Amino acid sequence: MRDPVLYPFYADLSSLPGVGPKVRPVLARLIGGETWLDLLFHLPTSWIDRRNRASIEALQIGEVSTVTATVDQLQLSRGKWPTRVRLRDETGFLTLIYFHANNQWLERTFKVGEEVMVSGLVDDYQGGRQITHPDHVVSPEKDDELPEVEPVYPMTANLTAKALRKFMAAALDGIPDLDEWIDPHLMKRNNWPGFKQALLRLHQPKVYDPEAFETARQRLAYDEALAREMAMGQARLARERRFSRAIPRAVGAERNIIEALPFKPTRAQMDAYSDVAIDMGRPVPMRRMIQGDVGSGKTLVAALAAAQVAADGGITAFMSPTEVLARQQADAIGRFLAPIGVRVAALTGRDKGAAREAILNDVRAGKIQVLSGTQALYQSDVDLPELSLVVIDEQHRFGVADRMKLSAKGSSPHMLVMSATPIPRTMALAVHGDLDISVIREKPANRQEVTTAAVPDTRIDEVMAAVARAIDRGERAFWICPAVDSEDAGDASAIQRREVLAEIVQAPVALVHGRMPGPERDAALDKLRTGEAGVLVATTVIEVGVDVPEATIIVIEHAEKFGLAQLHQLRGRVGRGEKASSCLLLYQAPLTEAGKERLDTLRKTTDGFEIAEADFKLRGPGDLLGLRQSGLPTFRVLNITEDANLIETARTDAKSILMADPHLDGARGLAVRRARDLFAPRIASVVSESE
Ligand code: ADP
Ligand code: MG
Repeated sequence: MRDPVLYPFYADLSSLPGVGPKVRPVLARLIGGETWLDLLFHLPTSWIDRRNRASIEALQIGEVSTVTATVDQLQLSRGKWPTRVRLRDETGFLTLIYFHANNQWLERTFKVGEEVMVSGLVDDYQGGRQITHPDHVVSPEKDDELPEVEPVYPMTANLTAKALRKFMAAALDGIPDLDEWIDPHLMKRNNWPGFKQALLRLHQPKVYDPEAFETARQRLAYDEALAREMAMGQARLARERRFSRAIPRAVGAERNIIEALPFKPTRAQMDAYSDVAIDMGRPVPMRRMIQGDVGSGKTLVAALAAAQVAADGGITAFMSPTEVLARQQADAIGRFLAPIGVRVAALTGRDKGAAREAILNDVRAGKIQVLSGTQALYQSDVDLPELSLVVIDEQHRFGVADRMKLSAKGSSPHMLVMSATPIPRTMALAVHGDLDISVIREKPANRQEVTTAAVPDTRIDEVMAAVARAIDRGERAFWICPAVDSEDAGDASAIQRREVLAEIVQAPVALVHGRMPGPERDAALDKLRTGEAGVLVATTVIEVGVDVPEATIIVIEHAEKFGLAQLHQLRGRVGRGEKASSCLLLYQAPLTEAGKERLDTLRKTTDGFEIAEADFKLRGPGDLLGLRQSGLPTFRVLNITEDANLIETARTDAKSILMADPHLDGARGLAVRRARDLFAPRIASVVSESE
């Protein structure tokens, strides 16, 4: 239920004067939304300072300036020639250019011998200074008609800045002043304006004051952080009020599994599992994320959790993003759980009819205790027996709201989320604030470091020969290409490369790319897994999580085109077995500064967290693998890199607000609710469903 006070914010753009059926779609596309709220959060990217007054001689090319000068000549448009107005002052001449202007207006505005004041972007035309379509022309007596400062927005064709400012003004006029939701001390300390004042200051500033603009932006960024923390805090509280089966730790089963392992679990794996065991031992739903770099051994942690559940007579569903991964995980978990007699089955789209029914019957009869499938398994209307635990692997394809929806379904199973995306702490707070997080930072001791080398593509023949030798030794390789076919990548296209490699390598070469249908893709990956193929040529569709321990080489062509985190994830496909592995980054010279830095970082470290920090610094959060796909919330104002401290403060603040007023029905609570609904509507709607 929406608070009626907020209705104006949700009004459709078409209710603004001047926004008709033609303008509305243009405006909506520009601002990425359809409501007044979306319009108001289309913030200026800069402001023009029109106080910049200069004589003609002193005008700087590329700057917005304001000049007072005398009209020297008016040459109206003729044919394809634009109108030219020549102005002069004692220092020189300035030309104004108008295309398609109204002659009457021109003659009225530019009377030869009279003074005018013009303001606009100065450019250079054949050595002379000119302004094309000045933003303003006023007579010098009417100096005050010229705004001292004007916001500049990201613009689009078919919409003028003037029109946009007019729509903005109408929306600002129509919204109420909301009761303050931010703590007064915090407001004071930061010198923050109120919510509406902040919007007014950014959209309709009276004075040019960059510091004041930043203060206003920060206030709105804080609103956004607070809203999100509130929504997640409430979700947390709601969850704490729900009941889940408390599952005791199964010490015997745990020991049997560990004793049968071909390796010793790391300390970090056992610590992560301890967190999980404690969570599941409580009668409230667990929501925990295990964050660990590729190859850190997250599957074992999940398997131990599934064993705890099975010992209690419960069922675990294990969700992977693709069918291949679902099958691979079924195998891996099945092997871990075999010593305690727990059976694991894959259930994917491929299992149809009788086979499918047989699996489900076995689950109902208690013969199978763990099901491994894709997310569709859980979302489908399959009549699954009560689940005690849901594990979501490689969760980055899953947004917070999706996750919350999933957990709002039916009973309240415990939920374990596994992520290979190492992200810096503040970002983890912003992205996964609804989860408790356990981090696995340690790698299994037997892990072979992956040797990484950057090689110019002029030496590709040597690289192919090295791959061929590895195949002769019975190893396997991945070969990553930046594009599917030659139109986009010439020789480095996956299709072409496969043909070339097939001639060089003494083994079948499989191919997988995004334009293949799902089952074909799965089949190609399976070929490498089973060893039927020695090399898999792939675009980046090769899935995160693909585990082929025999693969010892990964070659990445045009490595300079990939992001740092993506390269790291790709590299994680090798180094999973006993043998030494290598990652060869083929690049095309010359490298850009950033490209060089990326490849250097990769050569220097294999620590995913270090790489994530470096990536974060190099390019901001948007490029961390997968986050952009869906996990990363899109903030309107908040910048998770620069506003990190705001997120921390908001988190503390949200906690204390909820502590004092868990249902948000006090005066401040009601005010905060509005912030929450304005800034975090998607999460808020899931929260209020459960309210
Ligand atoms: P990820 O964290 O990327 O999901 P996996 O769970 O797939 O990693 O583990 C990668 C490989 O390492 C698997 O073959 C797994 O059996 C193995 N493994 C897991 N834990 C250890 C360990 N402590 N020591 C050695 N190998 C391990
Ligand atoms: Mg995994």
